[in-house]
Amino acid sequence: MRWRPLIVAVCLCPLQLAGLRAAETTPEQMVSMLASLHPDYGAYISSVRYGPTRLHPATLYAGLVRSGGLDPRDPDHAPATGRGATNVLIIYADMFEPWRSQGWRLLIADHEYFHARHLARGFDIPLAGFGVRRADTAYREALAWAWVLSRSLQGIYGPLSDRERSEVSSRYTEHYEAFFEFVSERQASAWAHYGRFLPGPESLIRQASSAPTAATPPPAGPATR
Ligand SMILES: [Zn+2]
Repeated sequence: MRWRPLIVAVCLCPLQLAGLRAAETTPEQMVSMLASLHPDYGAYISSVRYGPTRLHPATLYAGLVRSGGLDPRDPDHAPATGRGATNVLIIYADMFEPWRSQGWRLLIADHEYFHARHLARGFDIPLAGFGVRRADTAYREALAWAWVLSRSLQGIYGPLSDRERSEVSSRYTEHYEAFFEFVSERQASAWAHYGRFLPGPESLIRQASSAPTAATPPPAGPATR
């Protein structure tokens, strides 16, 4: 999961430091959240570990690495891909701000699950590479945010704050638009293929909002194998 650096708030007053400590996230908590959402998570995520520091890097709150890897930003630690691939989820103690809801924490756990399963070809969705790093990132992030946006609108994570609801929509829109722009410039006709997996943000919100129950699969989200 990659974030823009500017969203990292800095306030070092003692009260907030105490709050941050109280809200530390542990690998055990992340495992518990993953297991509650997906009993099969272990088929794609072999373990959850802390990164090398307690504080997350400025542009990253969590990420996948290959077995033995430690830093999601290091290309040498890039996650394994292909059918049956498993990867390690790297988290940081301060990855969730103290004000984040439990629903948001579950949403982020699910986001990482999606990435891991997609990399392992566990969905019927192309694991495409475009030879351009920003396009690859936009494609994979758009898919993962579409997944969690759809499931959040169905209530699978429980309540999110207004700020969080708005954030998940804007994350999807941001990556969707970046990828749409890339495809439009390179080969607009290819959208007939990729657009099947990436509904327009407005239509996704509309469709997911009308889903009758939380048990209904995402209307335009990724299909399972
Ligand atoms: Zn992500």
